[in-house]
Amino acid sequence: MPRSYVHEARKRVGPKRARVRPIVERLAVEHADAAIALTFTSPLELLVSVMLSAQTTDVNVNRVTPALFAKYSRPQDYLAVPPEELERDIHSTGFFRQKAKSLRGTMKLLIEEFDGEVPRTIDELVRLPGVARKTANVVAAELGTPQGIVVDTHVRRLSQRLGFTKREDPVKIERDLMNLVPREDWGRFPHLLIWHGRRVCDARRPQCERCVINDLCPSSRV
Ligand code: SF4
Repeated sequence: MPRSYVHEARKRVGPKRARVRPIVERLAVEHADAAIALTFTSPLELLVSVMLSAQTTDVNVNRVTPALFAKYSRPQDYLAVPPEELERDIHSTGFFRQKAKSLRGTMKLLIEEFDGEVPRTIDELVRLPGVARKTANVVAAELGTPQGIVVDTHVRRLSQRLGFTKREDPVKIERDLMNLVPREDWGRFPHLLIWHGRRVCDARRPQCERCVINDLCPSSRV
C-alpha cells in the first residue's frame, strides 16, 4: 500500500486511542456470543483443554475431553495411569506424546506446589510444564483475572489492520495492545477480534462492505 494512502487512511479514521473503545463496543454488539469455544466445567478442565488445543482445533479438543474428564477428574488421576494410557486417551488431539508429558509434569507441579489447584497468576501458570504465555493468558482470562491479552493469528492480523500495532512478534503486539486497550476489556478483546476475524475480517478476503467498524478501520476497502 503506498505511503500517502496509508497516511490518508489514518487521518480519515483518527487516532487509535480514540477508536479502540467504540471498536470494542461495536464488536461486542455484533459478536455477543464471542467466547472461548472450548468446553470445560472447572479450572483444571480449562487448563487441560487449553493445553490440548495447541496445534489443533477447539472442536477436536471438545470431542476428546468429555471422556477424558470423566476418567481424569483430579491432578492425581493423570499420574495414576501409565504414560502410554494417557497418550492413547488424548491421541486424536495430535502431538500426543509431548502433550501427555506436559500434562503429567503440570499435574505433578500442581500437586507439589499448588495444593492441586490451578494458580491464577501468569507468573505461576508459566511455571507449569508445557504452559507458555499464550496458554497462561487464556487460562487467567477465563478464570476472571486477565493479566495480559491473548494474541493468536486473528488478533495479530486484526490489530495490524486496525492500526493498533505494526509489530509481528506476538509478545510485542501484546505489549502494544496492553498499552492501548482499557484494562477492563483485556478478557473480551481477543474473543471479539477472533470472532470478527473468523466471520468478517477474513485473512484473504475481508468483507469490509459489511463490517460494522469499517469507518474506524484504516485498512477498510470501502
Ligand atoms: S474494515 Fe475490512 S479490514 Fe477493517 S476490520 Fe473491517 S473487514 Fe477488516
